[in-house]
Amino acid sequence: MKQIIVLATTNRGKTKEFRELLKNFPIEIKDLGDFGPIPEIIEDGETFDDNAYKKAAFTAKVLGFPAMADDSGLCVEALDGAPGVYSARYAGENATDAQNVEKLLDALKDEENRKAAFECVISIAVPTGAALTYESRCEGVLTREPVGENGFGYDPLFFFPEFNKTFAQLSIAEKGEISHRGKALKEVSSEMDKIIEWLEMSMPQFTQVPCKG
Ligand code: IMP
Repeated sequence: MKQIIVLATTNRGKTKEFRELLKNFPIEIKDLGDFGPIPEIIEDGETFDDNAYKKAAFTAKVLGFPAMADDSGLCVEALDGAPGVYSARYAGENATDAQNVEKLLDALKDEENRKAAFECVISIAVPTGAALTYESRCEGVLTREPVGENGFGYDPLFFFPEFNKTFAQLSIAEKGEISHRGKALKEVSSEMDKIIEWLEMSMPQFTQVPCKG
């Protein structure tokens, strides 16, 4: 029987990406949309690691299946690592990508040091709280204005020197090869056999209690 793993997201695009990369393994990837509503998971951790673990462990505990979650963001050297875990809400709680990009450009307008990195952490947890962690990063340089139409978030500002393009000028496949998330996912994929063994060992085993009758 296939091992079920729940992806702690309602974003079907993300689910599709994970399913595609892990399609050759004996696992079935579900996401939160496959279950009834669960309490909201507040991402208030101080690191990507904290948030990814919190999402994976909470989902596993509530649903009783192994769960996987990712957390990522942009860390800017001249801003001491900001926006970091606040990347999605840098310009405010419900900020759009364009507002976040504008705020970042403004914060760096007199700054010569444009070094930045995207980071991604993937956590895989079981209902007892035990977890495995995978992480990856991708180094780049921030442009002085948005360039390119593809992608999302800070992609139009993130210039990747090896390709001489911003992330927003790359196709999904090109970005997947070198991005923080793509590389972390590839690491998960390359270790999937071991992960499945670990899940089998770590999931609580239930035996039927006999009833006197
Ligand atoms: P999430 O943890 O994947 O939801 O990412 C949080 C935020 O980090 C996003 O809302 C984006 O602002 C930023 N971010 C993460 N990954 C990327 C990326 O690949 N390109 C651009 N922005 C990203």
